[in-house]
Amino acid sequence: MKILFVSPDPRPERWIAPLQAALPDAELIVWQEDMPPQQADFALVWQPPAVLFEKEPGLKAIFNLGAGVDALLKLPALPDALPIYRLEDAGMSAQMAEYLVHQIAEITRAMPVYRQQQQETRWKMQAPCRRKDWPIGLLGLGQIGNKAAQVLALLEYPVASWTRQAKTLPGVESFSGQETLASFLGRTRILINTLPLTAETQGILNKSLLSQLQPQSVLINVGRGQHLNEDDLLAALDEGQILQAVLDVFEQEPLPETHPFWSHPQITLTPHISAPTLREETIRQIVEKLQALQAGENISGQVDRQRGY
Ligand code: NAP
Repeated sequence: MKILFVSPDPRPERWIAPLQAALPDAELIVWQEDMPPQQADFALVWQPPAVLFEKEPGLKAIFNLGAGVDALLKLPALPDALPIYRLEDAGMSAQMAEYLVHQIAEITRAMPVYRQQQQETRWKMQAPCRRKDWPIGLLGLGQIGNKAAQVLALLEYPVASWTRQAKTLPGVESFSGQETLASFLGRTRILINTLPLTAETQGILNKSLLSQLQPQSVLINVGRGQHLNEDDLLAALDEGQILQAVLDVFEQEPLPETHPFWSHPQITLTPHISAPTLREETIRQIVEKLQALQAGENISGQVDRQRGY
């Protein structure tokens, strides 16, 4: 079995050594664009150049080193029939749930006020958080959204999800389909976007959607930057419809230095770190899947090219 590692990671040996240890019979190759064709069977990819698929027409499957496949699916040379497997959780959902709890508690527990009070050596209790004042709505309840919804429900926030197909998750109210979006938004004050970026979801976080949330809402975007209309968010912040935005992903990454988000007092931003790919967990998952494929078994996590995720 010949496996290519195709990634801009500057230290590919950190992947190759544990992969080789787990798959002693495999031939592992750090792929480079100027290489002759390798006749490889599989490729582990992150942001691969399109030429990979021209040079390696014999690939039986590729494994994406992340959950979102939006950039991959845009590559023109990607063969229609090539199976694509994406990462399923692999340690990302716990990181994401933690990030979300942290960002939400900052707001609902008035942490910036306490930091200011500390500066002023001032001992003063702010009003306690009433969970019912902060109904949370998650767009998407997949590998990433599911754990966050469970954790937030355990913390006794009112939690709802919006998906394509109806879900049953204890403590989480399920809304599904376009026709329920308005009711879902109308009951939501903290909106968390965990959708994949597809033709249907691009630009979903726009003026119309933001205006249907409860007044003085919080927007948390951990999906993709292209979900958000950035000008519409700035306008909704100006109008007071949005109280605070927490953004981890952006239309252009790295966010340009002159971008107004950097200095906006009601925006908290992080550089796409809410749930990074973890090497050990990722290698373990992909090795198990490769072994299962070699044994002729079916594996989960195949991307549905029609749906786009
Ligand atoms: P997933 O398991 O495929 O789940 C996607 C969820 O979105 C599903 O619940 C799906 O509904 C729902 N959905 C998709 N299209 C929809 C539509 N048109 N209308 C309503 N619901 C729709 O994906 P995942 O692993 O949770 O990852 C989700 C995304 O999170 C990734 O694509 C990536 O962009 C982002 N992400 C970001 C980071 C970060 O560090 N910022 C890290 C990991 C992932 P159904 O269940 O009904 O199909």
